[in-house]
Amino acid sequence: MKNLEIFIIDDEQLTLDMLFEFTKLLGYETKTYISAKDFFKQGKVSESEAIMFLDLNMPDMDGIEVMRKMVETGQKMPLVLMSGYDSGILHSAEQLAKAYSLDIIATLAKPFSLNLFKEAIEKYTRYSKLKGRDSKQFISVSELEFAINNKQLELYYQPQIDIRSGAIIGVEALVYWQHPRLGLINPGLFISIAENSGLIGILTSFVIEQAMHQALFWKSKKLMIQVSVNISAENITSLSLPEQLKDLLDGHQLDPTMLTLEVTESSLMGELITSLDILTRLRMKGIELSIDDFGTGYSSLSQLYRMPFTELKIDKSFVMNMKNDEDARGIVKTCIMLGHELKMNVVAEGVENRETLKILSDMGCDIAQGYYIARPMSAEKIIPWVVDRDTSSFLN
Ligand code: C2E
Ligand code: CA
Ligand code: CA
Repeated sequence: MKNLEIFIIDDEQLTLDMLFEFTKLLGYETKTYISAKDFFKQGKVSESEAIMFLDLNMPDMDGIEVMRKMVETGQKMPLVLMSGYDSGILHSAEQLAKAYSLDIIATLAKPFSLNLFKEAIEKYTRYSKLKGRDSKQFISVSELEFAINNKQLELYYQPQIDIRSGAIIGVEALVYWQHPRLGLINPGLFISIAENSGLIGILTSFVIEQAMHQALFWKSKKLMIQVSVNISAENITSLSLPEQLKDLLDGHQLDPTMLTLEVTESSLMGELITSLDILTRLRMKGIELSIDDFGTGYSSLSQLYRMPFTELKIDKSFVMNMKNDEDARGIVKTCIMLGHELKMNVVAEGVENRETLKILSDMGCDIAQGYYIARPMSAEKIIPWVVDRDTSSFLN
């Protein structure tokens, strides 16, 4: 880990000196630049592990120009943005970086504590581990197809609790790949492959059947746990989906309200009429519908008004930041109000600590999901988790 190289560009000498000493103390090799031009003058940096702390406001070349130049000269590296500007500017700089496909590890509003600075470095370590797995990208379509057909996919379940009572309401099913060589692979690494190769149909069928099977098992143990499954855009193009699902539910003797389909806001952008047709008939059959990653897409209020959703799921990027970021807090609050106005249950996902849960509770949010409550777990761990737990413990 200590072979990580840290670059810091900031026009304040004092900041540079302080951060330099601090990183030295932590055992890292650090290069500091008072002007971004000096950074680019040194030529191409090595391909080794590197991270850049970048000040946005600098006189001769500002942080935005640095990002552009990094892309132009092929000297991309993961960034931590630092700025004394208001958080709105930090956010749009972050969006711009994403558009340039630059990875933003963290944003630090000046003045920040050394602790936050250290946290950003630690965050990078976690990120780089994930990337390391990412680079094992020899997942091929045929390998994925084999995995789906040969039971290498496994569902993990992440609990969702009623914020008021602390009781479990349901679980979100997340599909993981138990790969014989690479170990457990996150859905983030293969769902898009399934979507782009036409495999998402059989993948989703597998997930839904497996989830229903599990819900039935829990029901037999007298546990009423609703199961949410994620549905891709391609899945809501088949007009017979509502009938297929109803048959499956009936076959499992499950009440349709035990199943929630999570549809992302952005997946609704395509065939609006077809999806409206399918979603409406799904609702008519009693299946619950949740709008996932809410706040990251571009749905208009009128679209939301037309679509028959029963649940609004606020994207975790806002929830994870709301403790320290006033704007994120404002968005979450607005989403809760909007959801309630439209008679939807509101779920906050990405709840990582008690403080966040407390704020959500004060804002009147209904349901919480996140690492603070529980990480996704295998099916057999759910019952002990539900039984051995003191429901009042989360907010105390
Ligand atoms: P998602 O639907 O937004 O699922 C929530 C993701 O957030 C999960 O990641 C979960 O592990 C993670 N998460 C939960 N709580 C926290 C928290 O407190 N902090 C943080 N930082 N993260 C949290 P995961 O399992 O890697 O899933 C990634 C995405 O893959 C899902 O995002 C979903 O869009 C997709 N996906 C998963 N399973 C399926 C599936 O069966 N079908 C389809 N189409 N997509 C799936
Ligand atoms: Ca989801
Ligand atoms: Ca989500």
